[in-house]
Amino acid sequence: MKIFTRTAAIDQYTRLCQEKGQTVGFAPTMGALHDGHLSLVAASKAENDITVCSLFVNPTQFNDAEDLRKYPRNHDVDMRMLMDVGCDVAFLPSVREVYPPGLDTKVQVDLNGLDRRLEGKFRPGHFDGMMEVVHRLIRITHPNRLYMGQKDYQQFLIVKHMIDALNLDVELVRCPTLREGDGLAMSSRNTRLAPIYRKKSVEINRTLHSIAAKKGQDNLQDILQHGIAKLKLADLRPEYLEVCDPSTLESVNVWTEDGEYVILAAAWADNIRLIDNVLF
Ligand code: AMP
Repeated sequence: MKIFTRTAAIDQYTRLCQEKGQTVGFAPTMGALHDGHLSLVAASKAENDITVCSLFVNPTQFNDAEDLRKYPRNHDVDMRMLMDVGCDVAFLPSVREVYPPGLDTKVQVDLNGLDRRLEGKFRPGHFDGMMEVVHRLIRITHPNRLYMGQKDYQQFLIVKHMIDALNLDVELVRCPTLREGDGLAMSSRNTRLAPIYRKKSVEINRTLHSIAAKKGQDNLQDILQHGIAKLKLADLRPEYLEVCDPSTLESVNVWTEDGEYVILAAAWADNIRLIDNVLF
């Protein structure tokens, strides 16, 4: 596996590959890898000649300094995992490489309110920072295909809008959410859950599924209130639980049995914030 830390070097390498007719797939991550991340690498390997995985804890997308400081970092283990799955290139840039002083890396895209709903309400500035880093990493690695997880559904939609709005020449691929045996969505943050909260956090996915199973029934608002109450009863602190349109993320008030929806939740388990969603 090739390891790059400099933007100029990886830019040149992927360009050379593409000049030889090879395709490049790219999975951006913040490290502390788990099988969910590795599934993006596997999906890229299946469809491209060269697979690049970046490990970069992006400071501009953290609205909470404590969360940034405590974000798990484990580069040695990450490198071993990437080698084991046959990733071709690991990219581990410094903050200075991604955001060189004097370079304006901000991205302006009209998202039609998509960035103000759900996560956007609770994590101000998060999506601006996320778009900034994904845009910058696309510019540096110029992949043919970009692999992102459904786990961060709103993030995926926003990146899709950004790619369309800026006419970026990259195909975005959505990969399914990988889960632990009990249904908890895999997340780097799960490692910070105390065992008792690790157990309690299963209720998030259960609640999403139990609501999805009631699709089309009367009183969606009552059903959601009941879901919130169940999360609280499990000692979690929900921030939102909403059924939304899967392309605009506008909140749905009336649902039908044959409609397509996504249900999304964010909840705190002790001091760890978890998110999950189910398309149904
Ligand atoms: P992160 O390192 O959390 O920023 O995530 C990097 C990428 O991995 C994003 O595209 C995530 O959506 C994706 N990802 C994170 N967790 C999972 C999961 N459990 N299953 C599939 N993809 C995931």
